[in-house]
Amino acid sequence: MPNSLQDIDFYGGFWWRFDHYEINDGYIRPAEGANLERYDPWKANHDTPALYEPTLVLADELERGSIQRKKRLDELYDALVMDAPDIEKKLAEIGRELAATLPSSVQIQLLDWCAEFGLPGILLHRVQHVTFAAQWEKQSEKSLADNLVAISRTYYRANDGWRESRSNLRMSLPFDSSPTLGDTVTREEFGGAVPRPLVLARDMRSVRYEEENIGFWERFFPSVLSQARPRPIPPHPLSEDFWLSYAEPLPDFINALVSFRNAVIGASAWKEGKNNAGEARAHMEWLNAQTFGVSPFAAPVPDASIEMQWVSPSLIASLSTMVLQDLSEQLRVLRCENCRKPFVTKAYQARYCGDTCKWAVNKRTQRENRKA
Ligand SMILES: [Zn+2]
Repeated sequence: MPNSLQDIDFYGGFWWRFDHYEINDGYIRPAEGANLERYDPWKANHDTPALYEPTLVLADELERGSIQRKKRLDELYDALVMDAPDIEKKLAEIGRELAATLPSSVQIQLLDWCAEFGLPGILLHRVQHVTFAAQWEKQSEKSLADNLVAISRTYYRANDGWRESRSNLRMSLPFDSSPTLGDTVTREEFGGAVPRPLVLARDMRSVRYEEENIGFWERFFPSVLSQARPRPIPPHPLSEDFWLSYAEPLPDFINALVSFRNAVIGASAWKEGKNNAGEARAHMEWLNAQTFGVSPFAAPVPDASIEMQWVSPSLIASLSTMVLQDLSEQLRVLRCENCRKPFVTKAYQARYCGDTCKWAVNKRTQRENRKA
């Protein structure tokens, strides 16, 4: 039980961002020495409506900038769904290719977006449960290095955030064995059933969870993968240590943002749609699938009242929820007929993103009429 209200640290609808990111080896990760900050996207959306709008604009730029690699990217994503062998290695390869070919102006836009919103959180968006290989750990911070215990650790998502369950595996070791801190507990050492490492994850198109191998999780922690032993204890999701080592692979990032934009614009066509009603409905279904796991949570707040908050698995889930809310209030995302930028509007017959584009077109039409 927490001692005071200050100790209560609910996830609420919070998300996390560093003030500075970099692209490195095909990954987007916090820059050295960057500061981590927790913020409330729901409050930000209240202050600046349609918080998702810059995401749609960035998705356009990313798609344009990665068009040469698009076919390969799409193939890899289809392969990912079918659980093809070596997929992690192939994704890492194309991540490096993308980082080398994405125009630097787009890379800067991407990094600015991350400094404003944080990473989309694709790993936490897709995973529900992870059990790591059992590791030799110290019993407590103070205990001696030669007094190691075998720990099996699981993180799973509940409606108030991520929880941990750990079990201390009881085992009798032969006298001559001396486990090393951070080493994986082997079946030989244990002589019994060591909990199998596994990840329960879904792809972004469905809400069905399937068993994946632990590489699914590890792919998002490149610095830990390359690190020598001892392997650190996997950090608790959403903790400061988690964010310091978490990185998002460029292909996953681009795929998530472009899919998101397609769904937002596709679902917006619903009202106009007589011919495309089925397509618009499919886009809406995709958005609904991204809000899976967003749940209400009652939290005591310092003035002794109780506040209803939304807990969200990821930034992508929060943004999708905001879009669905807006759609239900008859807001739509359309493309400007002049500059092609996506813009949010209540008037679904609107043609331009703002007065500048409207005037530009008016002027052009006048000029053409005069010439004619
Ligand atoms: Zn425009």
